[in-house]
This record gives sequence, C-alpha cells and structure tokens, in this order.
Amino acid sequence: MAKAVVSLVKFKDPYHSLREAIELCSGLSGLRKDDKILIKPNIVAWDFVLPFPPFGVVTTSAVMFALVQILAEEGFRHITIGEASRPVPKTQGRAIYKALGYEKLKEKYGVELVDFNEEKFEPVDFGGFQLSIARKALEADKIINVPVLKTHNQCKVSLGIKNLKGVLDRKSKMFCHNVNLDLDHIFPRIIEKVPVALTIIDGIFTLERGPGPTGKAYRKDLFIASRDPFACDVVGAEIMGYPAAEVSHLRYFAERHGRSTDLADMEVRGEEIEKHRFFVDYDWEWTKEDTGPTGFAKRGITGLVVRKYDSTLCTGCSSVYNPMLIMFMSAFKGEPFPGVEVITGKKQLASKGFEKTVLFGKCACELNKDNPNIKKAVPIRGCPPDLKKFEKAMRGEGINCNYDDYIKYRHYIFNRYKDKEGFDLGLYWK
Ligand code: SF4
Repeated sequence: MAKAVVSLVKFKDPYHSLREAIELCSGLSGLRKDDKILIKPNIVAWDFVLPFPPFGVVTTSAVMFALVQILAEEGFRHITIGEASRPVPKTQGRAIYKALGYEKLKEKYGVELVDFNEEKFEPVDFGGFQLSIARKALEADKIINVPVLKTHNQCKVSLGIKNLKGVLDRKSKMFCHNVNLDLDHIFPRIIEKVPVALTIIDGIFTLERGPGPTGKAYRKDLFIASRDPFACDVVGAEIMGYPAAEVSHLRYFAERHGRSTDLADMEVRGEEIEKHRFFVDYDWEWTKEDTGPTGFAKRGITGLVVRKYDSTLCTGCSSVYNPMLIMFMSAFKGEPFPGVEVITGKKQLASKGFEKTVLFGKCACELNKDNPNIKKAVPIRGCPPDLKKFEKAMRGEGINCNYDDYIKYRHYIFNRYKDKEGFDLGLYWK
C-alpha cells in the first residue's frame, strides 16, 4: 500500500509557502474545477468585548487569503468558507468574518461566507448516536480543512479531525461531551460523513494549553498539508511532541480505519520532522489529590478545592473555567477559604466535609441537586454560567472574587504578545 504523503513546509510567505505545501502533497489533485469547495477554518470563538489574542487560536487570515488566491488561480470558482463559532449568546459569524477581512474574499473572488449557526443542519446517524451536521458541509463536493497547530486541554491536540466539530450544531457539540460516550470516540466519527479532500494545518503559530486564548502561543512557521487527514494530524501531533499512539482520538481513528499510527508508514516531504519537533504542553497541572491547580497550592491557597474539569465539560463551560480560577485567585488575600469545593461538568459529585459547594454550571447544579453530601450549595446556573453572576454569588458567601481582576488578566494575555517579534496582528486583520 502506498504511503500517505504529508508535506511539511517552512513558512516564509503565505502564498509561496502554501503553494509549495499543496504541491508537495498534490493537494488539489482530487478536486474538479466545478466542485463546490467548502473551506473550514478554525474560528472556535471570538470576543468583541475583551481583548482576544488570536495567535494559535484561530486560523490566520493570511493562510485563508493565500488559499483562496491559489484556488482561484487554479480555476476553482465555487468556493465557500463556513464555520460555526461559539455563539455568545448569539451567533456572530458575520461580524467575525468582517473582522478577519473575509469580506474582501467575497468581493474579489466571489467567495460565499457562511455562518453555519444561521443555516440548516441535518441529523446524521452514526450507529448508536446522531449528530446534526451543517447542510452546507454535507452538500459540499470537497472540503478543505484548515485547522491550527494547537494543543487541547481535553484532547491533547486539536488538528484537522477535531476541527470538524465546528460543522455541528450547538446541541450536537454539547452531545460530544456526554457522560456515556467518550469525547474521543465521538468527534473523530464526523469525518466519516463529510468529504474532506485536503487538510492544511496552519502552523504559523502553535498554542500551548489550548484551545483558547488563555493558552500561550509560540511562533512556529510551518505548514503541514495532506490529502490524507489522518496522516496530516499524525504529523501535526508529532511536531507538538505527541506520538499519535498517545493521543486517544487518533488511536481510536486508527483502530476504526485499520491505520497505523507509526510515522514510518507516512511519507513526509519537505522539512524533516526532527528539526521542528517542539513539545508544547496541553494541560494545566493539578495536584495529585485533585484539590486544584498546582499553581493554587504554590501560592499557598488553602480551604478551596477545585476538582479538575473532565471531558464532559463543553466548550461553553470551558471558556469560563479559567476565568473562574482567576477570580478565585483574586479573592485570595492570604487567608484560607472557608472550606469550599467547586464542582463542574456532568459527572462530578460533591464530596462530604465542605462548608460550601459551588456548583458551576447548569449540569453540575442538576446532577448535585439532591446530593446529601452538600451542606450549603452555591448554585451558579447558566449554560455556560455568567461570570458576573458568579462574582455576585461568591461575594454573597463572603468570598470576594473580582471580575475586574479577570479583565486585567485578559489585557495581560493580550499585551504579552505586544511588540513581540513575529506576533503580527496583520496576519489576522486583513
Ligand atoms: S452547563 Fe456547561 S457542561 Fe453543561 S451543557 Fe452547559 S456548557 Fe455544557
């Protein structure tokens, strides 16, 4: 059997480097000129209110513009860009496309811009479960998947196979984080139903402790491309220091499709992997006893136990999880917390022995509503919970969490890239 070809190209400029990456893997050879082509970037979320560093979080517009230009030059005329970013609370896909400059692609090349959240979804049977997939993705003749080279605190890596979770409607995305089926056994199935012809991993940046903006980005200057989505992810994972066999969803995909996770079974053209492998951590470290982030213990925080998030926590709650930790830190002034346990997600149960139990999110509230271990429940309802309501509830318990400190943190994570060489917002704001 012929080896899957993956190109690994050093980024010098968006157009020429992308062209090289596509040509090295014969990336367009499976596409016909009259195909309806859907480009799926990764724009998992956006924030128009607080500073949002996009580095390593969303696909660069530089890559999207270069890709559309190449497709147009090659005679492809039916090009659509589609994504379903996290609605907060309403979908804002069009505003995001505008911010990223995609409207110029519409004007110049006639690209159709689609916010999947505004479109129809079709229920698709996966044998044992059902997911609703954007009709535009199902109706495309070919999909070009353009994820980012990033880590993910629940899945280790978020590359092409994971990026396809963005074709699901909100309910199905939440279903991926259910209690009975493993997250890593659900989203890798999506690719079985949509026609991905080419994957291009945008590795201009890579992201440690992703997938959101609280992670830390590094300039990486790589493009990884392949007509084989699995092989592309295997190489992408390897570059970030994760052998595919150690990434649960890639191992699962390999088992289902009779694939090898061994790099030796793939032909990498262009750069050598060895030269670019750079470990980026995917997760926050927790204490062995599961009492909270090790960072809390190092700061001397006591009387507060935060159980580590699990895979049942959806993107909505994940996006407010770090802010919740930051706000607990803001309440710490050297005194112990008054015996507080924090529970999240769909399967964590409150333990005995705490004065107060914070049930963070609708799911934790529902699951623990009759839990006899709880002395005093502090329910933070909402799906996901609202941080200002969280602040108010905590203050009501005498714990002075400060939303403003979270705002300061958001400025800090944005400003840490300011004037840093290579962290050019022009790669996004076209
Ligand atoms: S409360 Fe959180 S974990 Fe539960 S469904 Fe909503 S976002 Fe998901």
